Amino acid sequence: MAEYDLLIKGGSVVFPDQGTRRADLAVRGERIAAVSETIAANRAERVIDASGKYVFPGAVDSHFHVGIYRPLKEDATTESTSAASGGVTTILTYFRPGKNYLNKTGPYKELFPELLQLSEGSYLADYGYHLTMNTEDHIREIEWLVREGGVSTFKYYMFYKLLNLSGSASEGTNYLMTDKPVDLGFLYKYMKEVARVNDVFKEFGKIALSIHCENPEIIRATTGEVQEKPSGNPLKDYSDARPPWEEELAIHEAAIIANHTGCPVNLLHLSSQKAVEAGKDVSLRYPRLGFLLEGTLHHLGLSHDMDLGRLAKVNPPIRSREDVEYLWKSVLDGTIHTVVSDHACVTKEIKKGDLWTSLPGFGGTSLMFPILITEGYHKRGLPLHRIAELSSSNPAKCHNLFPKKGCMMVRCDADLAIVDIEKEKEVTLSTLCTAQDFSPEEGMRLKGWPEYTILRGQVIFEKGRVVGKPGYGQFIKRPVKLHYNE
Ligand SMILES: [Zn+2]
Repeated sequence: MAEYDLLIKGGSVVFPDQGTRRADLAVRGERIAAVSETIAANRAERVIDASGKYVFPGAVDSHFHVGIYRPLKEDATTESTSAASGGVTTILTYFRPGKNYLNKTGPYKELFPELLQLSEGSYLADYGYHLTMNTEDHIREIEWLVREGGVSTFKYYMFYKLLNLSGSASEGTNYLMTDKPVDLGFLYKYMKEVARVNDVFKEFGKIALSIHCENPEIIRATTGEVQEKPSGNPLKDYSDARPPWEEELAIHEAAIIANHTGCPVNLLHLSSQKAVEAGKDVSLRYPRLGFLLEGTLHHLGLSHDMDLGRLAKVNPPIRSREDVEYLWKSVLDGTIHTVVSDHACVTKEIKKGDLWTSLPGFGGTSLMFPILITEGYHKRGLPLHRIAELSSSNPAKCHNLFPKKGCMMVRCDADLAIVDIEKEKEVTLSTLCTAQDFSPEEGMRLKGWPEYTILRGQVIFEKGRVVGKPGYGQFIKRPVKLHYNE
């Protein structure tokens, strides 16, 4: 029996918070066992030659929507496979009662076990859930969900409050299947309880509320204006219909209530200069709340001057080239803490309709490294260890997975992505390994692709082929410091 099960030899190891250095990395069982300048090949059962390659911590894609538009079990399998093919080893995915997902509501005491049962045996990547509370009864389940369920992040969608006024057909459908409004008064009660539960568990990690900050009253007015005078560019129209200043407004609304209640907040998918500036403002004004500022691959990689068409409709919208540059500046200077995919697998059939009626969102998890390396490292000089922070250690720390995940130290899970940063390839649907039948990035040439993905010591993706079996992925209870002994 060899001392190590796996040895990654000859590569450069990318350490978050430190930098990149030449090192061999050995794995025993599911964990990193040694990192050293040289480890002899005969000490390991299997050796992967990583000469000329970079060994990153596996990405933690902390914004995902498994099962939003397709059956959850099937979606978990195909889309976690897509993640694995892109060097993503952990997925944190959203779930809410109501329309889409399981198409029903009820107490989490019933819904959550069902969700876990559907998930079991389906994922190729490790996974966890962020949960949306739609009612005051749900809010009362938060402490139980942390203690027993292993869920430490919750979600609120500011722009659903109009969608949810039952009996008002013009405002859309009752998405959340509740007859009570989910307005700012509801948010206030929600935040009070998250803040209370955060206090209960503070020695183990941060219990936080993740917020989709958009203001529906403004969207209603500005959409009307754009519909009267469309420009002919669908994505620009969509951006004008949901202008950056309504994100800015929503961030300030949320932050004021968060400050009053003491609720930790994650500001999701900031798409524009105004949104990031608002995030920065509230972080400086209320430093004790420790706001997380999240960016997405599509807001960093796409702008509405590209010829993408309405399939790239997403909330918040794809913005201008100037906004994209501002987002990159904010990634480079550390204002944006995490980069995520906001992956929601859709097909052209699911996205049927016109610009205003078609469903928002699309997938892109497998482009985590190609986009960050092409647009960040090659074009803008973003150091590789910063890419490891944005894609892995920061989301792991912010969402209570650290040091089990997002960590390159001995005894941490051996979750790794071995990346060829010089490999250039065109994006095709087959390279993405997804059930989606289009991609806004299709046809782009990107430079920096994963060659191997390793999850808890097992190779699950190897030289363009998925070799892991769906079902290998485990549910990770958070905070890991509460639920795991070491
Ligand atoms: Zn999302």
